[in-house]
Amino acid sequence: MRVAVVGAGVAGCVLSEHLLKQGHQVCLFEKSRGVGGRLNTKRLPWGAPDLGAQYFTARSPRFAAQVERWCHQGIASRWKFQPHKLENGQLRTSPDDTPRYVGSGKMHQVLLPLSEQLEFVTQTQINQIACTNGQWSLSDQHENGWHGFDRLVLAIPAAQAKVLLGERALGQAIPDAVLTPCAALAVHTKALVDDTIQGVFGEGAFSWLGRVDSKPGRNAPGPQQQIWVLHASDQLSETLDKTQGERLLDEGHRWLTQVIGNFELLNHYVHYWRYARQAVNIDAPGVLTDGSLAIIGDWTLGGKIQGAYESAMCLGESDFFNGGNR
Ligand code: NAD
Repeated sequence: MRVAVVGAGVAGCVLSEHLLKQGHQVCLFEKSRGVGGRLNTKRLPWGAPDLGAQYFTARSPRFAAQVERWCHQGIASRWKFQPHKLENGQLRTSPDDTPRYVGSGKMHQVLLPLSEQLEFVTQTQINQIACTNGQWSLSDQHENGWHGFDRLVLAIPAAQAKVLLGERALGQAIPDAVLTPCAALAVHTKALVDDTIQGVFGEGAFSWLGRVDSKPGRNAPGPQQQIWVLHASDQLSETLDKTQGERLLDEGHRWLTQVIGNFELLNHYVHYWRYARQAVNIDAPGVLTDGSLAIIGDWTLGGKIQGAYESAMCLGESDFFNGGNR
């Protein structure tokens, strides 16, 4: 069967790999330059901060087994940090025994081996889909077209899927504002810092602080230097947009000083995720299908990397890809 998958985040990649193993022909379309989606590590002259997901947990047996395979292959590693929590402005340890994992070297490392085996069309934003006589056609922003797919799978954020689906019933079934924004700030600092501060569940303007160079396979940029990623809270993220990097930096500078004390700011980088956090759970979790069209993604199963993986496997192991045209 010839399958078009739109979106090379975790869900799209995991499904594509599964389908290849089943002997299907897969064409994966992605608007950016590579795989990962919100599993994203940005390579900058001063370091490689993880801008999206900071780590992943594995609570379902199937995803736990996959993470174990990734660790065995050396493409994921356990990040053993002792969580801290900011409470009423005070930093406290907040221990737990949850295993947390990261991609080795970069978050999207776990998806890289697979992208080498695919027909992978990058820097291509699919903005029209049509089905004629059971065959799907797709076209992009430059009116390039791809034709003759037996199945179409959208593995993109809810709001983008809704736009692409237009008046189709499946589009109407997706609620508005499923994913809310998150502004991410990466900073390169020089300071004397307590080395045990590696991951902090925040409060106030920022919900998360992670020290990137404490993750396995990442190095500190220099003596007494650190790389941090801060995720703005829902409230702050909603008042920002991608033009307001300076305001995010000001807020982040103030907040980080409260947590680690005074520091010298050497570099920074801002990324605004328009669709990041799950705000609404949808009624039919896992997969949405209508005939030969399906939608998957973290947001169909409560968000997070595990949700993306489980959603893809749920579709991959269903009978959606069996038989002739629907
Ligand atoms: P998890 O179980 O470690 O954390 C879930 C939540 O529980 C945390 O956000 C925190 O609020 C709380 N928590 C967990 N352990 C805690 C502790 N020891 N002390 C205090 N609070 C604690 O991980 P998960 O469920 O797999 O989700 C976390 C992942 O989801 C991260 O990678 C994060 O980047 C991602 N995420 C990202 C966004 C975003 O908008 N960027 C939003 C939500 C989640």
